[in-house]
Amino acid sequence: MAVVSEEQVADVETFAFQAEINQLLSLIINTFYSNKEIFLRELISNASDALDKIRFEGLTDKSKLDSQPELFIHIVPDKATNSISIIDSGIGMTKADLVNNLGTIARSGTKSFMEALTAGADISMIGQFGVGFYSAYLVAEKVVVHSHHNDDEQYVWESQAGGSFTVRRDTGEELGRGTKIILYLKEDQLEYLEERKLKDLVKKHSEFISYPISLWTEKTTEKEVSDDEDEEAEKAEEKEIEEGKIEDVDDEEKKNSKKTKKVKEVSHEWALINKQKPIWMRPPDQITKDEYAAFYKSLTNDWEEPLAVKHFSVEGQLEFKSVLFVPKRAPFDMFDGRKKQNNIKLYVRRVFIMDNCEELIPEYLGFVKGIVDSEDLPLNISRETLQQNKILKVIRKNLVKKCLEMFNEISENKEDYNKFYESFGKNLKLGIHEDSVNRSKLADLLRYQSTKSGEDVTSLKDYVTRMKDGQTDIYYITGESRKAVENSPFLEKLKKRGLEVLFMVDPIDEYAVQQLKEYDGKKLVSATKEGLKLDDTEEEAKKKVEVKAKFEGLCKVMKDILGGKVEKVEVSDRIVESPCCLVTGEYGWSANMERIMKAQALRDSSMGSYMSSKKTLEINPDNAIIIELRNRADADKSDKTVKDLVLLLFETAILTSGFSLEEPNTFGNRIHRMIKLGLSIDEDDSTAAALDDESEIPPLEDDVDEGSRMEEVD
Ligand code: ADP
Repeated sequence: MAVVSEEQVADVETFAFQAEINQLLSLIINTFYSNKEIFLRELISNASDALDKIRFEGLTDKSKLDSQPELFIHIVPDKATNSISIIDSGIGMTKADLVNNLGTIARSGTKSFMEALTAGADISMIGQFGVGFYSAYLVAEKVVVHSHHNDDEQYVWESQAGGSFTVRRDTGEELGRGTKIILYLKEDQLEYLEERKLKDLVKKHSEFISYPISLWTEKTTEKEVSDDEDEEAEKAEEKEIEEGKIEDVDDEEKKNSKKTKKVKEVSHEWALINKQKPIWMRPPDQITKDEYAAFYKSLTNDWEEPLAVKHFSVEGQLEFKSVLFVPKRAPFDMFDGRKKQNNIKLYVRRVFIMDNCEELIPEYLGFVKGIVDSEDLPLNISRETLQQNKILKVIRKNLVKKCLEMFNEISENKEDYNKFYESFGKNLKLGIHEDSVNRSKLADLLRYQSTKSGEDVTSLKDYVTRMKDGQTDIYYITGESRKAVENSPFLEKLKKRGLEVLFMVDPIDEYAVQQLKEYDGKKLVSATKEGLKLDDTEEEAKKKVEVKAKFEGLCKVMKDILGGKVEKVEVSDRIVESPCCLVTGEYGWSANMERIMKAQALRDSSMGSYMSSKKTLEINPDNAIIIELRNRADADKSDKTVKDLVLLLFETAILTSGFSLEEPNTFGNRIHRMIKLGLSIDEDDSTAAALDDESEIPPLEDDVDEGSRMEEVD
């Protein structure tokens, strides 16, 4: 903990803000930014969260509410001190909470938010990054937080930013339980003392907060008082005027007419500002798009409207209502493993229960936001019992179904769907991997570029409609990028035959396609793995058998040279131009998967070697290099040049097939030798002698002279 100095004077402790938080504060204070009003939304949202927490605790232990049974949010503007207070009877903060939550422990969002700001993001996005509290400094020069948590005494936090804050015991007004945040407004921000302004702001940003928000309002009434009162009453009134409780407005009149007089009476009262009943209880056809958007924003802190909404109720054996939203973009930390995304709030008969109920929705749909309000669950349900709860399982099933419906609705608008897919396509693929029940429905939502799609994308459904007569399989290729796959040797034959191939270039595609296996009864076949069988005419088949026989010898020679490096060497059915390619087993890893697994530093290396071991070298019998190689091998099985060339071809195939070389140096040396040959550079004897392992880095020459000279060196 960054204690700067521990003044024992009045037990005030001073703390330094954590460096990133300090930076954030300077940004908030110094950036020119006009939309400052969002501070109120952020503080009310924090208050609401704090109320949610204590209400939830109170469900299992009523006595926790005793310290303050009422759940409320109060807003009190005070023109005398130019301050506004936001008071909640929520869970409150202990001393440690005040120190940690408001200054010394930075969240992952602190940095991300600053980066976003530098990249042109808007300050109003602050809530999404979990640092909303600091928005108080948009309007305040000093912030004081009084807080009382059931487990501690009442403490007060105070800071004018500037690098540090203080915390001390609070001996002032007792809160019972909860938090009172006082903002001492900057001189140019006094508009936030106006009732009208505050009312409008709450209506605009916080209308759907489910706790009563009341504003302390001032009311001035004029009262006519008859003058026929006895002396005593008059005296009492005069006393009140002196004390300023009532204002004597009409002194003149009083003097002139002894009969009646008017007095201005100033009174205060709480005005409830958020009167709407929960949006999900209202009939969908009576809710406007703007109302949904406002509800969504208050629910999620998002600054943009949602991309889609689904509002429905389920009745019958079990009853619940739900509103689900798809945001326009993915949150900044969607695939941050430490943070589980879960954005469905659970209510039971209008009472908020919890907001990260993992049982409500599968992880891959963690980006969907919304609420569920169940009529059947018990109010005092605990996290432990949730896991076993049958009602919850049914709710979950329904939510998934509705989500998929919603995604299908989005797909009716191409532009929207592109946006959706760009943000959440990965989640759908994760769903394919994890959710076997909904796999085929999810498959309908996939989109890929292909050899025939141009810059557009295609669905599997559309692919099927374009399949050629007699085509039974759906072809795909996986790889690092479209560029890397579209000219891959593996596609040569497929392209030549006009067969469409899907480009799967997202790492998660590898995982998804392994689970998907087929679509609409058509097998998904990888262009880079064994199992790719293209239908031949009888004539072609006959020719193939002949060719195979012709090249059997070469295949054997090559296998002997390569040894354990490959499982087998075969005549290829998929390449047209290239001399050869490396194919992996149908159920093993593709080259792309090997790359991904290497990148993830797979810990279980035994699994790695098992999954990536079975490779077949396929050779192209129509390729001039292969034909020449066969001639030489047929002539002399132990031709040294053949050995060199086979190794070089193999290493080149490793690269063109998307694998990585284990010994790039050896390969490099072979190539350099080729270059020297090409340039007719004589091999320097000393260089040659310096080579310590001649068999590892063999000469590569057709040139007999060169070869014999090398031999001499040996
Ligand atoms: P968050 O997005 O987590 O609310 P903030 O910066 O707004 O981020 O607040 C930081 C933390 O301070 C909160 O997570 C909460 O623990 C605590 N906090 C803020 N306001 C309140 C409040 N009114 N009552 C209780 N705790 C609060």
